Amino acid sequence: MRDWPLWTLRGPALVYWLVIDGFAVSAAVLLTVLGHAPRTEDLPRFIVLVLTAALVVIGTSVVGALRVEPQRSPWAVHVSYLLAGVFALPGNLLVVLMLGPALHGALSPRHRPHHWFFTTSATVLATMAARTVIGWSEPRTDLFAMVAAGATLLVVRALIVAIGLRLRNPAARPEQVVGQMLDVTVGVVAVCLGGLMAMAMTDDPLRVLLAAPPLLLLESAAQLPQWQRSAQRDAKTGLANSMHWDRLARDALDRARNRKSAAALLLLDLDHFKRVNDRVGHLAGDAALAAVGRLLLGSVRHGELVGRFGGEEFVVLLPDTTPGEAEQTAQRVRAGVAQLRVPTTATDGRDHELSGLTVSIGVATSPRYGYVLPDLMVAADSALLAAKSSGRNLVTVA
Ligand code: GH3
Ligand code: MG
Ligand code: MG
Repeated sequence: MRDWPLWTLRGPALVYWLVIDGFAVSAAVLLTVLGHAPRTEDLPRFIVLVLTAALVVIGTSVVGALRVEPQRSPWAVHVSYLLAGVFALPGNLLVVLMLGPALHGALSPRHRPHHWFFTTSATVLATMAARTVIGWSEPRTDLFAMVAAGATLLVVRALIVAIGLRLRNPAARPEQVVGQMLDVTVGVVAVCLGGLMAMAMTDDPLRVLLAAPPLLLLESAAQLPQWQRSAQRDAKTGLANSMHWDRLARDALDRARNRKSAAALLLLDLDHFKRVNDRVGHLAGDAALAAVGRLLLGSVRHGELVGRFGGEEFVVLLPDTTPGEAEQTAQRVRAGVAQLRVPTTATDGRDHELSGLTVSIGVATSPRYGYVLPDLMVAADSALLAAKSSGRNLVTVA
């Protein structure tokens, strides 16, 4: 128990996560104890709802395992059938239904059980909040109640999770805390589907089985943000990869041309980087690349584009930047790299602090070299070569 990853959370995050977990467990227990026994007509609804959800969750897990894909929580599916349960089931059967996400997390091989427990608790509390909105004894099912319950389930869940993630890592980017626009769309579709499932169940519970194919499709759509991120990001540094950066940079240059504003391109190449790999190891080399990536992100303003060009080369596009400002930014980055201390592990397995990294930077500017990306790249590249041949650890403006 002492080596649980839970204890690695920062103080405020630990307290918050434990409070949320405690609330969720107590509320579920209270509801089970205080609730009335289910009526006979509730049982078929409960059974088909569980069946449909289990079919989809097991189906997507099997397909994911066959394709050897990383397993993600099918949160959108959980949200759908839980919302259907919010409208159609008495409190205690709703509690049993809420065991669904818990059971799914417990059965799938998870590296971070505390994370799964926390998100499950958030889902449980959000489900209860949604039911509270429409009433516990005689739940309302009119359109307004459905919209209100769906919105409550999504917003409360997102809020609880976002606060937890922010407390865990105050430097987290907004998209890591609340997700991307596509996550929000998937959530809205999930609650709409949940509402439709509840309606389908009123006369003939079996009709809810019709929701299985749309739920399967929804589950695939819920993976899209992840696929999009991995298609656009470089895995080692988290920066935009070369293809994605290229697209963003061309768009930014088009806008700069239309506005007739200045822009600049920095091309960076770490000096004697092969030596780092040869002397300290490739893992250390990777840690250095990641550290330089973080430094670059921390050195630019909103709207400035940092990318990994390839190998130990990085690119930065600075819109609305004069040549003088671009040189200042490049000098700041150059000095920052020279100051870097990167904790890493050497090839002998010992902890090692990497220092003494340096970088050479070539700068090309618009309008001098135009607004066509390859033209700017050629100019920046020859400036970079000049920096290398003049002794490295230098900035050269074309
Ligand atoms: P120069 O100052 O002339 O740029 O010397 P250099 O050693 O940095 O240049 P060279 O092009 O000879 O070597 C680049 C090295 O970068 C070779 C390769 O091992 C290393 N490298 C490229 N990509 C990666 C990576 O993803 N991880 C690690 N660890 N090393 C990488
Ligand atoms: Mg190179
Ligand atoms: Mg190099």
